[in-house]
Amino acid sequence: MEPRGLPFSEGWPVGVAVYHPHLVEVPVTAVSPGLFKQVLSPSAFRDLVAALVGARSRLGQRVVWNVNSTSRGGGVAEMLQSLIAYARGAGIDIRWLVIQGNPEFFRVTKRIHNQIQGFPGDGGELGDREHDAYEQSLLDSGRELKGMVRPGDIVLLHDPQTAGLAPELKEAGARVVWRCHVGIDSPNEWALKAWEFLGPYLQDADVYVFSRSTFAWKALDPAKIAIIPPSIDPFTPKNNVLTQARIAAILIQAGLLNGYAAATPYYVRPTGTIGLVERRAEILEVATPRPYERLVVQVSRWDRLKDPLGVLNGFVNHVAREHGAHLVLAGPEVGAVADDPEGAVVLDEVTQAWRALPESERERVHLVCLPMQDAEENAVIVNALQRRAEVVVQKSLAEGFGLTVSEAMWKGRPVVASRIGGIQDQVEQDKTGLLLNDPTDLQEFGAAVSHLLIDADRANQMGAAAEEHVRENFLNDRHLKQYADLLGRLDR
Ligand code: UDP
Repeated sequence: MEPRGLPFSEGWPVGVAVYHPHLVEVPVTAVSPGLFKQVLSPSAFRDLVAALVGARSRLGQRVVWNVNSTSRGGGVAEMLQSLIAYARGAGIDIRWLVIQGNPEFFRVTKRIHNQIQGFPGDGGELGDREHDAYEQSLLDSGRELKGMVRPGDIVLLHDPQTAGLAPELKEAGARVVWRCHVGIDSPNEWALKAWEFLGPYLQDADVYVFSRSTFAWKALDPAKIAIIPPSIDPFTPKNNVLTQARIAAILIQAGLLNGYAAATPYYVRPTGTIGLVERRAEILEVATPRPYERLVVQVSRWDRLKDPLGVLNGFVNHVAREHGAHLVLAGPEVGAVADDPEGAVVLDEVTQAWRALPESERERVHLVCLPMQDAEENAVIVNALQRRAEVVVQKSLAEGFGLTVSEAMWKGRPVVASRIGGIQDQVEQDKTGLLLNDPTDLQEFGAAVSHLLIDADRANQMGAAAEEHVRENFLNDRHLKQYADLLGRLDR
């Protein structure tokens, strides 16, 4: 069947997504990496340019393919948009394909996602039936992909959903990189089961990329392992600088703050065109926060491993009313994230917990589903919320990296986050934020949040140190340079 061109969604930079029968090609507009001159030291900028020029000449006519299972919602989609845009801006032919899957496939892959991070998820098996369902669903995407990829092309397969495509792509003569964005520092029985499930598909891959060294599976060939932590883009609607007036205007327009806007709630899309925040969030609350009220914010998908229930209970039971703070738990509209079937159930659990609170506590907690029709409108609302937050929390029970942490740090916000997974690489205790030794200890959580609400000087110092730490370690330039090194390694 000929690929069809259909309008994708509002908010994607330019063009249309190309729908193949079993794959969707996501349109990404080239963005000049020259933008980084604004935020990097001259030597760091020179290194970036050298790496990109080198990668382009090394690749020649070859294409770099990225394959994952969702075009929006979550950290992987967030990063792919930016890294692909800058690589294209450097003249590299790099593309993004999203596989389609049936509900059974996503049930199995969500189970793997949970188990690889040490949690049972729905507690189901990962046996022969699951292998069959997984392989059956990938069959058509794999066949289609094989028809597009030429020998020598580089294919980056992201996360467990796409691991099963590796053998087919090796057969097609591609260099295959499997990038796992999730993991656990000390693998338990669940993680081992997930590895056992995925291992056979990955044997012939050329390189395995993990976000931190402790995530690398012990059974994989150590010579094939590369460690590349994630990164954020300082020039997107998610992270662009916003004035206080515009932050307020955006939050008022989205229904997250009460008051009169003294600015226009606009934002600049990566293409340079202007967008306006028009949609309102769906909010469960007693009353909208007033302009002078302090916000403690967690932005995350509705996922149990982000522990929204723990954040809610920790806040109402251990952050005293006297601090005058409100908790905003924000996530995407449920149903909007294709590869995350549990979102609605988790939101429902949080909603029940909120309804069960006494009214005096309920009025301090706001459950927010952010509009997702326009990815950039969604992003700028997240940006405004993170910038307006007095404290940003990420009380995850497991975390591959936690882009939301770097996003908040880049905005100079003090963070309270769990001492787990990739969060530990971002936050240095007491210097760039506060780490929770036991993410399930609600008292410790409440004490850390209260501490930052009380000691504004300390909170500001941490925020400033956090911003510098992200500039040096977690912007896209470092990531692009590591990808360029990876190309060199693949060609050896
Ligand atoms: N995010 C968003 N809108 C939402 C909720 C989350 O844009 O309504 C973004 C968030 O800002 C971050 C990404 O989704 O960029 C989540 O990445 P993270 O690594 O924190 O967690 P993941 O979802 O990948 O587990």
